[in-house]
Amino acid sequence: MSFSSLSLNNALIKAVQELGYQSPTPIQKQAIPHILANKDIMAGAQTGTGKTAAFALPILHQLLEKPSEIKVIRALVLTPTRELAQQVHQSFVRYAEHTDINCVVAYGGVSINPQIEALNKGTDVLIATPGRLLDHLVKGTFDLTQLQCLVFDEADRMLDMGFKDEIDRILNRIPPTRQTMLFSATFDDAIFKLSKTLLTDPELIEVSERNATAAKVDQIVYTVDTDRKRELTSFIIGSKNWQQVLIFTRTKEGADKLAKEMCLDGIKTQSIHGDKSQGAREKALAEFKAGKTRALVATDVAARGIDILDLRYVINFELPYIAEDYIHRIGRSGRAGNDGLAISLMSPSEQWLLDAVEEVLNKRLLQQWYPGYEPDLTKTEEKQPRKVSKRKQRERALSGHKRPQGRKRQRR
Ligand code: AMP
Repeated sequence: MSFSSLSLNNALIKAVQELGYQSPTPIQKQAIPHILANKDIMAGAQTGTGKTAAFALPILHQLLEKPSEIKVIRALVLTPTRELAQQVHQSFVRYAEHTDINCVVAYGGVSINPQIEALNKGTDVLIATPGRLLDHLVKGTFDLTQLQCLVFDEADRMLDMGFKDEIDRILNRIPPTRQTMLFSATFDDAIFKLSKTLLTDPELIEVSERNATAAKVDQIVYTVDTDRKRELTSFIIGSKNWQQVLIFTRTKEGADKLAKEMCLDGIKTQSIHGDKSQGAREKALAEFKAGKTRALVATDVAARGIDILDLRYVINFELPYIAEDYIHRIGRSGRAGNDGLAISLMSPSEQWLLDAVEEVLNKRLLQQWYPGYEPDLTKTEEKQPRKVSKRKQRERALSGHKRPQGRKRQRR
């Protein structure tokens, strides 16, 4: 199947050809015809499957089909993080290169004024994070009364980050008759509940099993004592001569500490997390992409939206408290069909977190010992008190876990 057989506008086909896309990915094949037929859709698509083009191309096509006399926001894409907003914006700009469609991005953490200036010039497509979008709506930078198309990208993450209130407030300000699309890497009750309030008779699209990890990512779990994790991380990267590795920690402090120690081990490493300025995050990401740094240590929130096509290695220095984050983390590698390897370093006290991940994946992951880094099973402090249930452990962990940007995490 080719892009031309999807009946897309020639200007869009020219753009994807220039980007080297040979044929549509499975999510694109399935979603594009439904979107062109004006249907609401609910799509289970992992990162790296080409989901951005799956909604961006038909949206742009529809805007080109019905040109508007004035520049007014007709399509809105909501994303949970600024990195993803930037990423989606870049894709829209690339796909719209041979058209006169304008796309603007608006996210928090940076001055609002340049965004107001860009928006005042008029735009057809707005990509925004929910909080900053509301800031603009309250300020009256624009209204959304002419909106025809609304996309929720990574909706599961939006709920995890506690954006439900913002979503409700935004929905109050947009026309009830519109086309709505919801994309989510994972589906659970909260997502289905949200979909009921947003979508009308949606087409359900799933390109792979629900809650499945990216198809070509091998997964290994090494059981190792907490105090030897950093040593093992540096050893693996050094001995295998990996040049580009994304590492996940649960906390910002943990990310900074690990990056510092790995630099002392001789591996050029930087960290990105929510306490760093937007500029610092962009610089660290650009240096990582350009191969100037070998390892990038990130928290879950900061890593969202990172798109490095040939990234092969992901290390979970700590398993996530939110099991679904595991899928997002390892989906950073193995993008657009490339091979990937995800290594999780699990201390014996993290077994319950692995159990939760396995529950979400609906499969067991093989646990191994790395020769020379076997856990010291005589250590007692590593063991969890037996009588505490997994649910309690998770609740305790979450209550001690710093919430991103002061927003509440949703319980599911
Ligand atoms: P996404 O899942 O939207 O983050 O896309 C992942 C990567 O796949 C991005 O780098 C896209 O540029 C790339 N991509 C999207 N569609 C195609 C396609 N049809 N053929 C090749 N690469 C693609």
